[in-house]
Amino acid sequence: MNRNDAAAECFIQFYKLQLTTILKARLDYFSNLTDLKYSSFRIGNGLNRIGSCNNLNRLSFSWALCMAPVEFIDYVVVHELVHTKIKSHGKQFWNRVREILPEHGNDRKWIKMNMSKIHDAGLQLKSSSRNYEQNM
Ligand SMILES: [Zn+2]
Repeated sequence: MNRNDAAAECFIQFYKLQLTTILKARLDYFSNLTDLKYSSFRIGNGLNRIGSCNNLNRLSFSWALCMAPVEFIDYVVVHELVHTKIKSHGKQFWNRVREILPEHGNDRKWIKMNMSKIHDAGLQLKSSSRNYEQNM
């Protein structure tokens, strides 16, 4: 790892710490509100997968979510929580998401827009920390 990557890594570590607190609070909130229980969660280094849920109901989230508006964090949290009961993206799945989040739960355009926004913000953070190092 060179110095530039180390700087980017430092920002990402900071974001992960912040995000852990937010995610824990939102997961517990929606978990208590519903019958959807997860076993654990982690924050990964990737940018391409915003969230995932495995067969043991362990959830995983991208660090880049920290740059997303809270409504979008809630959407991703609910999406993955619903996966603890329903693994596929069928009609039943989306109905459940919309039941919990009537406003945005099924708004594909809004979801797509936010996905690409945080993906770009993540890439930008990585490259701007690189530029910052070069200008010092
Ligand atoms: Zn999904």
